[in-house]
Amino acid sequence: MSNIVSQIGNTPLIYLEEVSKLTSCKIYGKAEFLNPGLSVKDRAALSIIENAEKRGDLRSGGTIVEGTAGNTGIGIALVANAKGYNVKIIIPETQSQEKFDTLNALGVELIKVPAVPFADPNNYQHIAKRIAKEEMRTNPNGAIFADQWNNLDNMSAHYSTTGPEIYNQTNGEVDAFICSVGTGGTLSGVSKYLREKNSSVKTGIADPKGAAMYNFFKNDQVKATQGNSISEGIGLGRVTPIIEEIEKVDYAYSIDDRDALPYIYNLVKNEGIILGGSSAINIAGAVNLAQDIGPGKTIVTILCDHGSRYQSKIYNTKFLKDKSLPIPDWLRS
Ligand code: PMP
Repeated sequence: MSNIVSQIGNTPLIYLEEVSKLTSCKIYGKAEFLNPGLSVKDRAALSIIENAEKRGDLRSGGTIVEGTAGNTGIGIALVANAKGYNVKIIIPETQSQEKFDTLNALGVELIKVPAVPFADPNNYQHIAKRIAKEEMRTNPNGAIFADQWNNLDNMSAHYSTTGPEIYNQTNGEVDAFICSVGTGGTLSGVSKYLREKNSSVKTGIADPKGAAMYNFFKNDQVKATQGNSISEGIGLGRVTPIIEEIEKVDYAYSIDDRDALPYIYNLVKNEGIILGGSSAINIAGAVNLAQDIGPGKTIVTILCDHGSRYQSKIYNTKFLKDKSLPIPDWLRS
């Protein structure tokens, strides 16, 4: 295979110098922002599409429908374009302009809807399901609902690729893995694989404020923490089939944007890596985990997507000022 699809995955594992020094651990970031769609979700998109093809659910000219915070939609669109499918994306209108622009550039049918809680029948995920059902009923070329929160093909992408890559890139010497949860595909798939290889590998969740996974894994209660986060693509409020696949999480952290964002600003300035907000939560989580299990341990986290996707938010002085968030020196005007 020589098209763009073959370039998904096999991302480098990058040594994060400053946080490693800070904690006396070796903290590595899996560079998912180097996937063709600039995010970790390319893997899930490819797995969902290829498994649907194998089952015979998708045929040439068919349509893929998905509700997404953006990155899954971008992953789906680039795989679909390369393979000859159409794409309909339902997205909350609060997501970054850069994601809308990328989805438009990819030529998807983009349906922006008001951001309302999951409990509301007009939440984007429910609208996507209804549109998918209608498309399946009426589209002569067939359609599928990608359904990333419930579709275990999302998780299996990480079980069969991200997990093994991390294990091999650390020569099997990974002591702990931590990341945040959007659908939980990454956390469940990677931790399942690593634990099967070595049952003493520790796992952790870095949860943004306002999400429920911290309390779920720490206190067995599906209850959102106080506050909110500007991070996109993470922050789950309910237990899904993918979350149910996670046997246990050893360490849970609830992380404030104010504590997390400086890590990615330092990475820009001192290590030349430009990341999005969920990576900030992940790195803050890795630092907490290192402080709990270190020193001398090898810890891996995920660098989920590229910062160019948030130029108008995380790297924009006015946005940061309005949200009373830390502003890096070089962005002050
Ligand atoms: N970070 C970003 C920027 C994302 O878009 C997503 C996926 N929505 C995640 C992290 C979380 O990945 P997962 O769905 O595998 O939990």
